[in-house]
Amino acid sequence: MKLLSIKECDIFQKKVFIRCDFNVPTDDFGNITDDRRIRSALATIKYCLDQKCAIILASHFGRPKAGVFSEEDSLAHVARRLHQLLKVDVILASDVVGEDAKTRAANLADGEILLLENLRFEAGETKNDPAFSAQLAALAEVYINDAFGVSHRAHASVAGITEHFDTAHKAAGFLLLKEIEFFDILLDNPVRPFVAIIGGSKVSGKLEALINLLPKVDKVLIGGGMAFTFLKAMGYDIGNSLVEDDLIPEAIKIMEEAKELGVKFYLPVDVVAAETFAPDAMSRLVSAQEIPHSWMGLDIGPATVRLYRQVLADVQTILWNGPMGVYEMERFARGSNKIAHFVADSYATTVVGGGDTADLVQRIGLDEEMSFISTGGGASLELLEGKVLPGVKPLMV
Ligand code: AMP
Repeated sequence: MKLLSIKECDIFQKKVFIRCDFNVPTDDFGNITDDRRIRSALATIKYCLDQKCAIILASHFGRPKAGVFSEEDSLAHVARRLHQLLKVDVILASDVVGEDAKTRAANLADGEILLLENLRFEAGETKNDPAFSAQLAALAEVYINDAFGVSHRAHASVAGITEHFDTAHKAAGFLLLKEIEFFDILLDNPVRPFVAIIGGSKVSGKLEALINLLPKVDKVLIGGGMAFTFLKAMGYDIGNSLVEDDLIPEAIKIMEEAKELGVKFYLPVDVVAAETFAPDAMSRLVSAQEIPHSWMGLDIGPATVRLYRQVLADVQTILWNGPMGVYEMERFARGSNKIAHFVADSYATTVVGGGDTADLVQRIGLDEEMSFISTGGGASLELLEGKVLPGVKPLMV
């Protein structure tokens, strides 16, 4: 199966609907604090401009109450930033599929850009409502999905809408193509040795991904809160650290399977333990086997950092998903920062899963050093779980 590409789609002088992910972070005053998601969509938009298309852009933003327009969830700030970046006028419709959007879309000339209002102002969006999907589809002749970050959701603008276009009139945009291509290479044809660094808060969130990855990788490095369920499964006293007791049997199964498959499975050998979950908590370095009673492990320790550096030294492909500790608190960010530097400095192909890991890599200014940083947290995790995304499946032939 192959993903339909915008490059192979005849879009010349056509009216094109592009589903983007403009769900950017903003501060209390509504200013965009990170426009990476908008910049990531520019390649597709510029290509459509070159192809003399009339362009209709659509995105969701935040979690507005469906059915009601709200000023703070309007896409006005996105329209302004798009105008700054593209240096082309961007017309903002005052609704999604109402009179204003319909009239403006109908009168849109080649080379003009119309941005629909926040898709989630319409209740039909998250419900994948067929009538709403049809109304969206009626606005354009060609459908392009470039919103990787929401392609794991069966929503009207990524799933339902695709039913209204035949395979000659729908395709993936450049961002979606790149995301899928990187994960395909990673999961089907990685250059070995291939290591997965998996962290984050809980085993439950990454369980399916771990199970799917195990037969594909050569080594796994575990960090973050999820490490303690594995350590407890090995019989260690983990004090008050985050743990999911109900997943201990799964943790044992994963470690046994790794052994059977010959996959090297690494757990932290020391941790930064704290008395409470607070930025100024009393903390100390302890071995993973000697976490004091009622203390909690909040980061990997320096011995683990050295061990993991050695493990990473000879690898050719690195997938990193999930921080090594509570990186939001400076005191417990050191392990994640060190690992980020090792990953960045390696000669391997480095793929960073979205969400927190992308955030931490960006915070320390290493985003340019990675081969690829995914723009979607949930979507990338579902790919790692081996799922076909509902927004991608209809674009496969
Ligand atoms: P996830 O969303 O599952 O990728 O988890 C990311 C979150 O895990 C971050 O907010 C971290 O603060 C948190 N985290 C990482 N290590 C730990 C730990 N040792 N204890 C508690 N939370 C952690």
